[in-house]
Amino acid sequence: MAIEMDKDITNAEWEVMRVVWAQTEVPSHVIIDVLTDKRGWKEPTIKTLIGRLVKKGALKTKKDGRKFLYSTDIKEDTLVNETLDQFFHNICSKDIGKTIGVLIDEAMLSHDDVALLKEKLKQKEPIAYDTVLCNCVKGQCQCQHHG
Ligand SMILES: [Zn+2]
Repeated sequence: MAIEMDKDITNAEWEVMRVVWAQTEVPSHVIIDVLTDKRGWKEPTIKTLIGRLVKKGALKTKKDGRKFLYSTDIKEDTLVNETLDQFFHNICSKDIGKTIGVLIDEAMLSHDDVALLKEKLKQKEPIAYDTVLCNCVKGQCQCQHHG
C-alpha cells in the first residue's frame, strides 16, 4: 500500500520518525532530547523537522494541556519497504541482483539472518529468469539493447 504523503522523507526527518516510532505518542521535548543527544542538533532545527513532517502528513498532533503530542499512522516497515522500492526503481533491473549482493556484503548478519536469506534464495531458484532485461528509459542506461 502506498503511503499518502506530499513528499519523500529526508534522512534528517527520518531521525524524528524513529523517535515517534519508538513510542506511541511523544511530546516535542522528548524528540528534542533524543536528537540533541544523538546528533547534536539545536532545538529550532528539530522543531523545523517536526513542523515539516506535520505539513507532509507524516506526523499527527494532539493537544495535551499546554503541549502537543506527536504520533504517526505510518508504520516503520512500510516506510522502509517503500524507500527500498523507490531505490530499486532508480537502478537498472539488470543491476538489482548485484546491488543486493553488495547489501549482503556490507550487512551485519546473524546466523538466523543468513538462514532466512538462504531460504529466500532457495525459493527464488526455480522461478529465476534466464536473463533479466533492462527496463530503463533510453538515455538513462548504457545497456546494449537501446542501441
Ligand atoms: Zn538498463
